[in-house]
Amino acid sequence: MAVPLMQAVRVGRYVLKQHLTGRKRYPLVLMLEPLFRCNLACAGCGKIDYPAKILNQRMSYQECLDADTEAGAPVIAVAGGEPLLHKEMPQIIAGLVARKKYVYLCTNGLLLEKKIDDYKPSPFFSWDIHLDGDQQMHDSSVCQEGVYDRAVKAIKLAKSKGFRVSINCTLFDGAKPERVAAFFDEVMRLGVDGVMTAPGYAYERAPDQEHFLNRQKTKTLFRDIFRLGKGHKWRFTQSPLFLNFLAGNETYHCTPWGKPLRTVFGWQRPCYLLGEGYAKTFKELMDDTAWDQYGTGAYEKCADCMVHSGYESTAVMDAVQRPWHFIKVALQGPETEKPMAPEISLANQRPASYGYDAEVARQMERLEGEDAKRGKPARGPRVRINGQSETPAPASAAK
Ligand code: SF4
Repeated sequence: MAVPLMQAVRVGRYVLKQHLTGRKRYPLVLMLEPLFRCNLACAGCGKIDYPAKILNQRMSYQECLDADTEAGAPVIAVAGGEPLLHKEMPQIIAGLVARKKYVYLCTNGLLLEKKIDDYKPSPFFSWDIHLDGDQQMHDSSVCQEGVYDRAVKAIKLAKSKGFRVSINCTLFDGAKPERVAAFFDEVMRLGVDGVMTAPGYAYERAPDQEHFLNRQKTKTLFRDIFRLGKGHKWRFTQSPLFLNFLAGNETYHCTPWGKPLRTVFGWQRPCYLLGEGYAKTFKELMDDTAWDQYGTGAYEKCADCMVHSGYESTAVMDAVQRPWHFIKVALQGPETEKPMAPEISLANQRPASYGYDAEVARQMERLEGEDAKRGKPARGPRVRINGQSETPAPASAAK
């Protein structure tokens, strides 16, 4: 199974309990980004364009466990940046697994061979290896040759040592359904336990802005892929209803609070993809975020988003509300022939606002303040922002 039976049962029980107790918003998956630093610089990534002083920040072991205590989600995805660059990562994973959380450690695989013996196989732990398609697709996506081969080697090694392994496959404009289908066949042959797939989100800081999919292209691409996959027994770690959504058969609204993100900045509003401010506590995030201002149809930056961060929780909640529909799609697979479900109107979406530079300036000011208290020099490494200025000015000057 793509997901252990016990995991499916526990997550189902958790969701049902939230519904029965009338809790309006609750986390399904805690997203943890204990660092932004990465050893790759992918064309579609909007997470690593920070000054060195910020890239050098780490959430501690205790901060990671405290984030879990605050959120209380049954599943935790640890991402970044590249988590294997974090020295305390083995302790963080062991600590979360000891709490019987289902933990996915998202990695590009480059350091896996070196670090694998710091981790133990467990039904609660899975490697989640970044692989955006076949060799040519993936190496092009990560802007470096040879990464696909190393990721595949890492998958084989992890499987040989008894670990659960899934892959995380982001698709971009220009992906060919036949190649993606052949790639899914290949990873099944490699023995991966499950595939998590989604279209890339159009990060405003990503170096390549040309290859993000719009919603119509996303739906057509996934329909074509799923049509080719009929009878192939691909194992996905995602809800069948989320896959049905990707194929254009569900008019889902975003529930960004289903996958809250904690980073070195705090709790990110509103989701894993969009950084529009930070809350100090999980409660503050849940209580004080203007959730209805986000999602497709509500906000320009959400217009083309169909990513699991916002929509998989919607699919899981739909499964609880319409179990007969869930069972039908789980048995038959996503619909690929009938007319697509109506699309959400963008007529009333609010325009995008841009606060990246001000947020970076705020964080730099905070870090420099902390340095000053410890008696360190006021300025960190001099870096270039947007290819223009050096270490950013204080937040007050950036507003
Ligand atoms: S649609 Fe939802 S998940 Fe996507 S960017 Fe907007 S808030 Fe985030």
